[in-house]
Amino acid sequence: MINKLNFQRNVLLSRYTSFRIGGPAKYFFVAESSSQLRKAIEFAHKNNLKFFILGGGSNLLVSDKGFDGLVIKIEISGIIFKNRIVQVFSGEKLSNVINYLAKNNLSGLEWAVGIPGTIGGAIYGNVGAFSHSISELVKDVKVIDLGSRRELIYKNRDCRFIYRGSIFKKDRNLIIISANLKFKKAKKDYVKRLMQKYLSQKRKNQPLEFYSAGCIFKNFFIDNDFKKVKGIKEVERFKKCGSIPSAYLIEKCGLKGAKVGGAMISKKHSNFIINLGNAKAKDVIALINLIKKEIMKKFNIKLEEEIEYLGF
Ligand SMILES: Cc1cc2nc3c(=O)[nH]c(=O)nc-3n(C[C@H](O)[C@H](O)[C@H](O)COP(=O)(O)OP(=O)(O)OC[C@H]3O[C@@H](n4cnc5c(N)ncnc54)[C@H](O)[C@@H]3O)c2cc1C
Repeated sequence: MINKLNFQRNVLLSRYTSFRIGGPAKYFFVAESSSQLRKAIEFAHKNNLKFFILGGGSNLLVSDKGFDGLVIKIEISGIIFKNRIVQVFSGEKLSNVINYLAKNNLSGLEWAVGIPGTIGGAIYGNVGAFSHSISELVKDVKVIDLGSRRELIYKNRDCRFIYRGSIFKKDRNLIIISANLKFKKAKKDYVKRLMQKYLSQKRKNQPLEFYSAGCIFKNFFIDNDFKKVKGIKEVERFKKCGSIPSAYLIEKCGLKGAKVGGAMISKKHSNFIINLGNAKAKDVIALINLIKKEIMKKFNIKLEEEIEYLGF
């Protein structure tokens, strides 16, 4: 079974994460079709192995010990376009989709330019930027439900999208195979200009020249808990937008540029931790714990991670 499906052993996960951090996976498998994906999962079940679905590895911190199970990297690719609805398979890179849209005079995803990762990962975490999120574009999502072992279609409302979340984050039995996304017609030049505008803002504000996993923490949403928050002068401004950026909180704690081992809180965007070249997961964890502790102390706010952990 192992040879038939071409499983690899002891594969360093640092090669497959945008942080370039992480120890080995006991087994590693690249699924190029939904039938290969099913077989790999069957193998894991039969052998009592834990498994993890990997997209582009751009929202992930993998432990230095690695993962004592099977990592299934989704490379199910393809983009099919019919009447403003584009079916995209989950292993397709977000950047390929954006370029495809520009070529085909379709608009709606320009804001996502510069965001790494796959469509599967983007839908799972409801990727977003510049006040947009992918949930605006999703018509429906095809999944394999490991509970019933059937392929199911989740309409947009069934996906229960929220800020950086969806049903797929809550129910790990649902593996995303493809999605139908809907777009507006627009001139190629307009789409390209918009992409350029977003990309230059992203380059200006984010340390894209370093390895990272994007924003470490979600922004803090103003809800009932807000009454307990202390020490924020610009309360009214944040109340208007409904949330407080984590980068603001981290900066106000004076943590920009703080370093542990090879990891550093970016000076350009304080919600990014960057790998200066030889960072370990334990260095990143030490910085995450420092940020959480200082923000709790200064503002009485409990920050929640946007990134996912594997192997801890
Ligand atoms: C430089 C940089 C900039 C970034 N900018 C942004 C930004 O502006 N906005 C933003 O929202 N994010 C941003 N990110 C974070 C990241 O790129 C996104 O969260 C991305 O959508 C993750 O996709 P991925 O394929 O890499 O997922 P991975 O990191 O591989 O996985 C993330 C989670 O998704 C799950 N998953 C992946 N594929 C599937 C599937 N097919 N079915 C079920 N579950 C699946 C995994 O199991 C895992 O739990 C940035 C990251 C970097 C490095």
